[in-house]
Amino acid sequence: MKEFIDFGVLPIRVSSRRSLRPHLSLIFRAESKITVGIDTTEGRTPINDFLLITHAHRDHYGHRVMKFEHTIASRETAKALEIISRESFRGRCFEIGDEITENGWKIRTYETFHTPGSTAFYWKNDIGTRILVTGDVKEFKELPKCDLLITEATYGDPQDPSCYFEDDVEGFLNVSDESPAFGAYPFGKAQRAVRLLRESGFSDIIQMDGLSFSLTRAIIGDEEIELLKDDESLKIVSPKELKRVRNRKKFVLSAQKFYRSTITLSDHADFRNLLLMIERCDPELVILYHGGRRAERMRDYLRNSGYFAISLKDVNTIIGDPNDLVEGISRDI
Ligand SMILES: [Zn+2]
Repeated sequence: MKEFIDFGVLPIRVSSRRSLRPHLSLIFRAESKITVGIDTTEGRTPINDFLLITHAHRDHYGHRVMKFEHTIASRETAKALEIISRESFRGRCFEIGDEITENGWKIRTYETFHTPGSTAFYWKNDIGTRILVTGDVKEFKELPKCDLLITEATYGDPQDPSCYFEDDVEGFLNVSDESPAFGAYPFGKAQRAVRLLRESGFSDIIQMDGLSFSLTRAIIGDEEIELLKDDESLKIVSPKELKRVRNRKKFVLSAQKFYRSTITLSDHADFRNLLLMIERCDPELVILYHGGRRAERMRDYLRNSGYFAISLKDVNTIIGDPNDLVEGISRDI
């Protein structure tokens, strides 16, 4: 069986004090050693040559690296990060579909339809290995074939019935006539809900909480949205704000089962679609880098199906963060 070394790339994790930094980095050895961070963070002295941020959700850590010039993200991701964190994005931006050049590699960018601006990155290393980093994925039909696929497993447990679902767009649109309040994550889900309503012909005012409003106005420019008022107009608010509004009908837009009243509207591929994506991209190696325990379940499923698959738990090259060493030395002195 081939190993990572045969593909000219080594996945690593960085330890920082008592924990590991999020997600992973890839080390490429050619004339010089190049380290590429994937949805990860840096200490004060960066160790990655450049950082790819797939989208602006907090659990992909763009807000922690937006001050670095070597951070790379789509224009929409950068804009969303600035609104969410109220800081400036100092990295490098691109339009999705653009090709960007780093280390002499031409990196192609693809939309994954998980959030506005969510991006998959594709490039060939110096020995021709095709690498595809997807981040979180909703639609995968435009993604290219690859040798190493680095992807998510949010709904990656084949034994868990909640990992199989279809979006209930019709149910969502049907109840929208009854002036409900919808709970939706402020970035991604909220803009998708507004778009779906407008495409269906809903032209009334939509009220939103402050962050959802700012993001929606900046990203899709809808003029018929306004901030929350104490009335029964249709609302889209973050799930935790749902209990504060007085609409009689309330639904959380999610495929997660821990909310009381949900309408299935997910920004992720379900298990079947994750598998279809993997079949389509046809990799020899798969790294499941997001999804917690479900990444391990999906790894096991893929191994049983003949793939060479690992989860982050299996990345056993751990390097120390040099920032910690410096601090350790100065303390000793
Ligand atoms: Zn996400």
